[in-house]
Amino acid sequence: MTDHADCLFCKLVAGDIPANVVYEDDQLLAFHDIAPKADTHLLVIPKRHIVNLNDLSASDAELMSHLMLTIPTIARQQQLTGFRTITNTGAEGGQEVFHMHFHILGGAQLPGF
Ligand code: 5GP
Repeated sequence: MTDHADCLFCKLVAGDIPANVVYEDDQLLAFHDIAPKADTHLLVIPKRHIVNLNDLSASDAELMSHLMLTIPTIARQQQLTGFRTITNTGAEGGQEVFHMHFHILGGAQLPGF
């Protein structure tokens, strides 16, 4: 696993920064966002350092499939009957933490997008 010393979410994966973890397996970690923008606001990340969608290659297909298929499992575990999934790519796309993550937002009626 590539651990980027200056990456916040790599530090979180390594246990160097505490997180409220709701799901973990060998490839993924999901935890509560520190500044929630919805009643429930989770982040799902690959443990391996990937910057964002632009950083993916064909060899990541299995990981991405697993990540996408795990999102509804996590949502169900959190009793979310509906939810929004967002990933920001690049500074212009609103990305602030440059370790790929998928936001899961829910817990109450969300406004239209
Ligand atoms: P982005 O804007 O990159 O898509 O989202 C980054 C998210 O990471 C933000 O929603 C922000 O609140 C969250 N975040 C930033 N630092 C931390 C942290 O140390 N712990 C947790 N759990 N979330 C964080």
